Amino acid sequence: MTNESTVCAVCGGSRTASTTTFTVDLNSSLLVVRHVPALVCRQCGEEWIANSEAARLEEMVQDAQNRHAAFEVMEWGEPVAA
Ligand SMILES: [Zn+2]
Repeated sequence: MTNESTVCAVCGGSRTASTTTFTVDLNSSLLVVRHVPALVCRQCGEEWIANSEAARLEEMVQDAQNRHAAFEVMEWGEPVAA
């Protein structure tokens, strides 16, 4: 991790590794993923999700859409059904 990645682009405060709750509101369904790894600014609370995590979230969203889940709460790290 570089110094740059720990500085908040919004307020210049310091970001720290934490977790966040990711919510996607789709037209037909609402998906909540808990405990997603993220960098959180200690000053303004801005959250960043890394590209690798974002890609996996995308998979989880697709998976929920494929199952036509109306509302679903998932835990980060849950296996995505094939
Ligand atoms: Zn900030």
